[in-house]
Amino acid sequence: MDGAAGRFVIVSRPGLLPAGILLDGIYLTMVDGLIVRSSSIHAAGCYTTRKIRKGTRVIEYDGPRFTKDEADERYSDRDITYLFSCGDSSKTVIDGFGTAMFINHSCDPNCESDNIDGRVFIVAIRDIPAGEELTYEYNLFDSDEDDADCYCGAKQCRGTMFSEDEVKRRAKRARAAAKASKRSA
Ligand SMILES: [Zn+2]
Repeated sequence: MDGAAGRFVIVSRPGLLPAGILLDGIYLTMVDGLIVRSSSIHAAGCYTTRKIRKGTRVIEYDGPRFTKDEADERYSDRDITYLFSCGDSSKTVIDGFGTAMFINHSCDPNCESDNIDGRVFIVAIRDIPAGEELTYEYNLFDSDEDDADCYCGAKQCRGTMFSEDEVKRRAKRARAAAKASKRSA
């Protein structure tokens, strides 16, 4: 995966939903054997109803494409976004629309996001049994959020959805800020 790629804004319950049905307050939609329903990780998650083999392109992370600047302008007043950075030089982001945007982050995921010729696919990194929730590592970066706590429940949970680089960058920034405030005191 391209090192710079990853989701960079926090996911929560969307205003826009793909075609589906509402059952007992839970939004259900079925595409290619995938189903969106309530999840212990986050409000909603994406589950497979079929066995998926390692290496399978499960679903494309698709939607309208903007530049990072256009997206910032468009969504400056919205805290719910499903933007996915393609990690390319044009700083293209995909405004996720469809089943893939419901796939939650996990620190011990069963999928990964792959950039293939400017398109982003969620690819299985191991065999996944039917009924399992699909997850991948978000590698959040460049987020306006103060934190992005992770509740994935994995044994090796990092406690944050930020990428390791972003965690380092934020620690550095915090140290610099602490130094500056000491100097001015
Ligand atoms: Zn985690």
